[in-house]
Amino acid sequence: MIKRTVFESEHEMFRDSFRKFLQEEAVPHHHEWEKEGQVSRELWLKAGQHGYLSPTVPEEYGGVGVDFRYNAVVDEEIANMGLSGIGFGLHSDIAVPYIMAYGTEEQKKKYLPGCVNGEIVTAIAMTEPGTGSDLQGVKTTAILDGDHYVLNGSKTFITNGQMADLVIVVAKTNPDEGAKGTSLLLVEAGYDGFAKGQNLDKIGMKAQDTSELFFQDVKVPKENLLGAEGMGFIYLMQELPQERLSVGLNAIAGAESILQQTVDYVKERKAFGRNIASFQNTQFKLAEMSATLTMARVFVDKCLDLHINKELDVVTAAKLKLLTTEIQCDVIDECLQLHGGYGYMLEYPVARAYADARVQKIYAGTNEIMKLIIGRSLV
Ligand SMILES: Cc1cc2nc3c(=O)[nH]c(=O)nc-3n(C[C@H](O)[C@H](O)[C@H](O)COP(=O)(O)OP(=O)(O)OC[C@H]3O[C@@H](n4cnc5c(N)ncnc54)[C@H](O)[C@@H]3O)c2cc1C
Repeated sequence: MIKRTVFESEHEMFRDSFRKFLQEEAVPHHHEWEKEGQVSRELWLKAGQHGYLSPTVPEEYGGVGVDFRYNAVVDEEIANMGLSGIGFGLHSDIAVPYIMAYGTEEQKKKYLPGCVNGEIVTAIAMTEPGTGSDLQGVKTTAILDGDHYVLNGSKTFITNGQMADLVIVVAKTNPDEGAKGTSLLLVEAGYDGFAKGQNLDKIGMKAQDTSELFFQDVKVPKENLLGAEGMGFIYLMQELPQERLSVGLNAIAGAESILQQTVDYVKERKAFGRNIASFQNTQFKLAEMSATLTMARVFVDKCLDLHINKELDVVTAAKLKLLTTEIQCDVIDECLQLHGGYGYMLEYPVARAYADARVQKIYAGTNEIMKLIIGRSLV
């Protein structure tokens, strides 16, 4: 593998300890969690104790205040070990950063320490049954009434939805306006009128809870508005590059891991009296995948480097999300083929990776939406 230069030795030490943590605390239970449709709360609490959740949160709010490369390490190791069901990325890279960026002092003091120690699991609820790609079409409303907003509507496909203690809800505070009427609200799981629907049955990422959420006349205190009223859409646009980087990091680490496992497999498996690895087709496929992943790795690391210098723009992040997830799905498909029938058996990591990877082209903005963003920047 090409030498990576984006990480320092302290990130690699963190990587070693996080990998050990996953081996001890997640790998032995993952199959059980897949059956249950969610990971245990204990995992979150233990991860919090070790500083693996939201490492970028500043010390004054209970965090360690390090750079996003620590999040990247967490994303990569979860993907490496085929544990994509663990929703730390959604929490640390996507939801919590909204509170850090737009929260008031009171909100940060109230919520961030729990986000770091694992007592507060977060989710972000944008998608609704009637709208996903077109976020301006959100129908959930939050109408100000004295000292609180009255929240009504429903959301679907929400990652960490069953476990979430705190949900950032995208709602229209001014339903007559499109993007300008959109705001973000911090909604606690215990609020009256907030109900979680069923844990949705997916083709992959079986250990990750994905839920519908329902809001019926939920009284959300006015002080739980996140940032300014009407700025929700702009905040979403500002934070999405980090979400897409997170997806890209996961994609390439996951694909690299499956490629390595496939190399090991073809060296063992025999057909026509020879190792599968000895066939020219096998070597050519492996060579193509290795070359593609090397190129992708360089691009991901460059984007990570840009991001920690606050220079990752929306279009570059869209290119990253588009390319890495397409590459991930193509590589895993080829690797599955090289496993023959065993590749189709869920007992083999390549089969689970195949099912897990598919959603990467759908969430965080579909790949068609990525093409729209890139296309618009060109013409
Ligand atoms: C496992 C999982 C986890 C998720 N987690 C979350 C979460 O935590 N929070 C959250 O808010 N959402 C989450 N989502 C929702 C996800 O972000 C949406 O599914 C996604 O944005 C697409 O929206 P949609 O499903 O409504 O599809 P639609 O918007 O209905 O799109 C259907 C198809 O039409 C295409 N399309 C739409 N508009 C255009 C256009 N203008 N040009 C060309 N093609 C277009 C799309 O690309 C897609 O192929 C999750 C989804 C899944 C499956």
